[in-house]
Amino acid sequence: MAKSASQGAGTGSSLALPKHGISRQQLEADLEALKDADADWKGGHAFGIYFPTRDDVADVIRWANEQFFRLSTHHPDVFPSLRQIEADVVAMSASLFNAPAAIGNVTCGGTESLILAAKVARDQAKAEKGVTEAEIIVPRTAYPAFAKAAELLGVKLVRTEITSHFAADVASVRKHITRNTVLIAVSAPTITHGVIDPVEELAACAQEAGINFHVDASIGGFQLPFLEQLGRPVPVIDFRIPGVTSLSADLHKYAYSSIGASVILHRSEDTYGYQRFAIDDWSTGTYRTPGVLGTRSGGPIAAAWATMRYLGVDGYLALTKTLDETRQRLVDGVGQIDGLCVLGNPMTSVVVIGPSGATDIKRVFAGMKKAGWEARLQSDPPSMRLLLAPYHATVIEGYLASLRQAVQSNDVQKTEALSAANRA
Ligand SMILES: *Cc1c(COP(=O)(O)O)cnc(C)c1O
Repeated sequence: MAKSASQGAGTGSSLALPKHGISRQQLEADLEALKDADADWKGGHAFGIYFPTRDDVADVIRWANEQFFRLSTHHPDVFPSLRQIEADVVAMSASLFNAPAAIGNVTCGGTESLILAAKVARDQAKAEKGVTEAEIIVPRTAYPAFAKAAELLGVKLVRTEITSHFAADVASVRKHITRNTVLIAVSAPTITHGVIDPVEELAACAQEAGINFHVDASIGGFQLPFLEQLGRPVPVIDFRIPGVTSLSADLHKYAYSSIGASVILHRSEDTYGYQRFAIDDWSTGTYRTPGVLGTRSGGPIAAAWATMRYLGVDGYLALTKTLDETRQRLVDGVGQIDGLCVLGNPMTSVVVIGPSGATDIKRVFAGMKKAGWEARLQSDPPSMRLLLAPYHATVIEGYLASLRQAVQSNDVQKTEALSAANRA
């Protein structure tokens, strides 16, 4: 597919490298001016762009980042600390997800984790079963990173149907399994509808067919284990399910650490072996990397290590409880607004608000944006998607008040448009 180069990251500037260095003071002024156009993320007015918790947690992240952001994981002989820190993050995550052993690594984000799950499946099926025309199956609500992975890896992406409740349709997945299928992947939950796919049922299908099975727990990874401990009725999505061969969870989402960190875990060393890269005839001997990247900054990894240990199980339980209560307040509040409804039955931090009756959700969305609230507009079905963070507990009533107002003025506009049409 040809891509337009006219828009997107890295375009839209004609700035030249300054001939003379610019003072720190001027740089600060310039950055402040650039940031003027940004959403009020610190004030909790952005949902799903940033996952704020508390100032003390932010301080820990900053402190740990500061120690390690100039160091690279590429030199474990020079910085054994970082090797240990990454292994610790993997081990803490493995215990949370009931993995039989701590096998995996920290990646730069959910996208890299998903690309790696797809690469493992492709290479493993090729080596062990001679599959050369690999296909990966994902429900059509799966994250776009699977499409990116398919494009990068030269495998075919098969997108299957979802049910009327927006979950992966098991029959549709079954129907699409062929001799070339190397991976089935699901979301826990999807970012589109906040729905947890039927992990157990589909993992069993994959196991029966001898296919890899990946759980994309980017969003739910650091919520579901704690919701379970809080006694909420959430499904099991982790390595306790025998067919699950790998799982990823984003550290920069609900582990509440800084941007640039996700973790991928594997059930077995054999599988992980298909992920790692090594060549022996490099000028300095063997060159090895666990994932897609070469040099990785130690900053996000150390920040994750510090955040996880600073919070501990009780810290995550408290934050998850706040998150859960905030979701409930939002769901109840939306339920009381005529003209809106909550899609499905959200169990985690993803809440999707749709129209009921004749409400134009696009207009409501525009009204909310004007009032300074950033969420995501979706088309299938028309809806607004919010990813809550614990900090949103402090702003949710304000959000609901704005929402009520946005729906009312939407109605007023519609009535006016209608009477204008009648007059004409
Ligand atoms: C956020 C997310 C990802 C990965 O996104 P990154 O931006 O690469 O971290 C993958 N899957 C789901 C369901 C997500 O919500």
